[in-house]
Amino acid sequence: MKKVYLDNASTTQMRPEVIEEMLKVMMEDYGNPSSTHSFGRNAKSVLEMSRKSIAKHLNCTAQEIIFTSCGTEANNWILRSAVRDLKIQRIITSKIEHHAVLHTAEALEIEFGIQVDYVAIKADGSIDVNDLVELLSQEKKTLVSLMHVNNEIGTVLDLEKIGRICHQHNVLFHSDTVQSIGKSELNLQKVPVDFIVASAHKFHGPKGIGFAFVRKNSGLQPLFYGGEQEKGLRPGTEAVHQIVGMAKALELSYDNLERDRSHIMELRNYLINRLEIEFPASEINGNRDGFYTVLNILLPFSEEKTAMMLLNLDMKGIAVSRGSACQSGSIRPSHVLAEMLSEEDLKKPGLRVSFSHYNTKGDIDLLMNALKKI
Ligand code: PLP
Repeated sequence: MKKVYLDNASTTQMRPEVIEEMLKVMMEDYGNPSSTHSFGRNAKSVLEMSRKSIAKHLNCTAQEIIFTSCGTEANNWILRSAVRDLKIQRIITSKIEHHAVLHTAEALEIEFGIQVDYVAIKADGSIDVNDLVELLSQEKKTLVSLMHVNNEIGTVLDLEKIGRICHQHNVLFHSDTVQSIGKSELNLQKVPVDFIVASAHKFHGPKGIGFAFVRKNSGLQPLFYGGEQEKGLRPGTEAVHQIVGMAKALELSYDNLERDRSHIMELRNYLINRLEIEFPASEINGNRDGFYTVLNILLPFSEEKTAMMLLNLDMKGIAVSRGSACQSGSIRPSHVLAEMLSEEDLKKPGLRVSFSHYNTKGDIDLLMNALKKI
């Protein structure tokens, strides 16, 4: 049975070149980068080369890249230190952020008594910029945290525009860029964002490694304490093989970006066209012109079919993720769709299809055939 993986917003398959690079480091460059002997110096050198390579792709300095264990850690660190050490009194975010941001903001609200405000979301899942400007008219030491690309519906935030608004209002701007790093160009000299985060397993790198971009002189302090690694901002022996794998994955993502993006866009359009023909009553959650790697759809299925849908697809070897919601009542509705859809639509079966360059039109055909048989 041919298996079909269309859940690339959850995680991606590693590129073979990344695995090769990591194996080499594990076999040969196993020194501790903090050791002063040749093994350590060698590990330190590959570590710093990786940092430089990542910085080059984002047009920032190597010192502004801090390695973390994942995107979740990087988000937690930035938000928590902003409140604790930079004395941020208010976080403005949105209800459709990833839980790594939402739950952190909620925890900080309880622990530090800060104010958390949520920007209004439009029907297509985009941020209401006028509402953001309105919220920013309140004088308070503020950090705005808004994600670049939504992981469930693929809506895209105009980072440059929001960054400019934040700076005009003299507030800090953090963006969870986990879904877009490696999949769209980002020039950090041009985009006025103070903090962004990334996670290697979303761009065909290894799991368990990510990074934060922290603009120079930010004043952030570490989340926990130990050695001097990462300038003391993220102590703990560096996972050199993971970091090298992440840098290689990012390099390959950007080297192949144009080709991969046009291939994936073609697949996404192909799926939209086939849905329009086979299921004319289906709807797109979010925006038809949303980010090219994600398509979130509502299907016109009955409740019984809804309950069976994912199991049915899984039995046919097709991996997608649920775009919604309260099918069979046993699973909590998506917090993202709950912000956008009516009660009625929330009951309809949703699918999040998320693509990578490894997918083919044949994969979409298999998905469509399976959906038609449900
Ligand atoms: N932020 C977004 C938008 C994500 O999609 C994810 C992954 O699901 C994360 C954060 C968390 O990243 P990680 O798996 O590296 O902790």
